[in-house]
Amino acid sequence: MQYLEQRIEIISTVQAFNVTGLSVGTSGNLSVLVDSGFLITPTGMAYDDMKPEDLVVMDTSGMVVCGARQASSEWRFHRDIYLSRVEANAVVHVHSPYATAIACTRQDIPAFHYMVAIAGGDSIRCAEYATFATEQLSANALHALRDRNACLLANHGMICLADSIQSAFKMAQQVEELARQYYLTTQMGEPVLLDKKEMQINLEKFKNYGK
Ligand code: 13P
Ligand code: ZN
Repeated sequence: MQYLEQRIEIISTVQAFNVTGLSVGTSGNLSVLVDSGFLITPTGMAYDDMKPEDLVVMDTSGMVVCGARQASSEWRFHRDIYLSRVEANAVVHVHSPYATAIACTRQDIPAFHYMVAIAGGDSIRCAEYATFATEQLSANALHALRDRNACLLANHGMICLADSIQSAFKMAQQVEELARQYYLTTQMGEPVLLDKKEMQINLEKFKNYGK
């Protein structure tokens, strides 16, 4: 079977969405770039039941190249991220509780903690609301993702992009943890935000962090 290794990695990662609490039920989806387009999870399928042959290969025009199932209903933003962000090799979308709670207030996560820089800037933006599985949602997400590797989706969830499936998954965990910390902070009072200059220093430091 073509792309068997990537299929197995996608399945173990989406199963980890459920185990780690990043998503409940069939919410969320995951894709990875392959030679003929991108490999993406099928729509509405329980992660525990997913087999390698259930994944769908799509080309960048949105045509299914291989697979009997229907692709994730959110294939548009996966496709559009690959078309516009050369550094993206994998895209994760989840409805994790704290990121989603903040997204339901339609607020960005500001620079309340230096780790916000992990998403590429001095905030994690919340994309404007659009109905799920629409081209408008994809356009809004791409706008919120400019110069960023992650964004929230109003009244919906979050998206992360990265150079690998594992990195995109870890980014989603980090964004969820930041959302949780931001929520906790706001329960205690007004967070003291880091200024642009300090966040620029943090962004520079992250370029070498862990390398
Ligand atoms: P799919 O099951 O179609 O991937 O949809 C889940 C989802 O999160 C929609 O936004
Ligand atoms: Zn969703």
